[in-house]
Amino acid sequence: THAPVITVDGPSGAGKGTLCMLLADKLGWKLLDSGAIYRVLALAALHHGVDLESEDALVPLAAHLDVQFIAEGELVKVILEGEDVSGELRKEETGMAASKVAALPRVREALLRRQRAFSEAPGLVADGRDMGTVVFPQAEVKIFLDASAEERANRRMKQLQQKGLDVNFDHLLKEIQERDYRDRNRAVAPLRPAADALVLDSTEMSIDQVIELALAHIETKL
Ligand code: C5P
Repeated sequence: THAPVITVDGPSGAGKGTLCMLLADKLGWKLLDSGAIYRVLALAALHHGVDLESEDALVPLAAHLDVQFIAEGELVKVILEGEDVSGELRKEETGMAASKVAALPRVREALLRRQRAFSEAPGLVADGRDMGTVVFPQAEVKIFLDASAEERANRRMKQLQQKGLDVNFDHLLKEIQERDYRDRNRAVAPLRPAADALVLDSTEMSIDQVIELALAHIETKL
């Protein structure tokens, strides 16, 4: 049976996570945070001492990844091989490591089925880089959410400051630019909008404005 899919792709920090959570909640649909899968794989590699560039060693790790995503209200607890890695998962260095393993074609291939398995009734909201282009090309609704690197670094800085962390803007901006560059320029499934995606630039928008535009678009498609 076919279940509808909404894909939301874009660079890190554009607001995809917030938008997807809200949409899934509002529609009562499942949520796929595909970035978390790449992050978990990167952590598994680090824990097992596997080189982040060794495609031959990473492919079997990806194929047998022992991970559980446990929803706890607003939060999702991530259990890797029985260990709670939720904290480690969200660190910037984990995102950076994820973008390295994500550049390897056979690693992406090995994770395809696991991602597609999230699609079930009544529907799925899929958050990532290649949801609309590769994983769910037949999706009913595709959104590409962008924002300038400076604005994304700013938002990230505020988030971290709210957690009481001391952060350097230039450092954050450099990390964002480095990860963007890798994600946009890799040979396989590079970050880019699907031809049939609605492109939203949230640089000068509030999250409420983004949600309003996304919902209006979804209504015309479903
Ligand atoms: O979205 P998030 O920051 O959690 O993703 C971490 C990294 O995983 C991204 O920088 C990207 O390299 C990779 N990724 C990907 N394809 C996806 C989701 C994430 O390549 N669909």
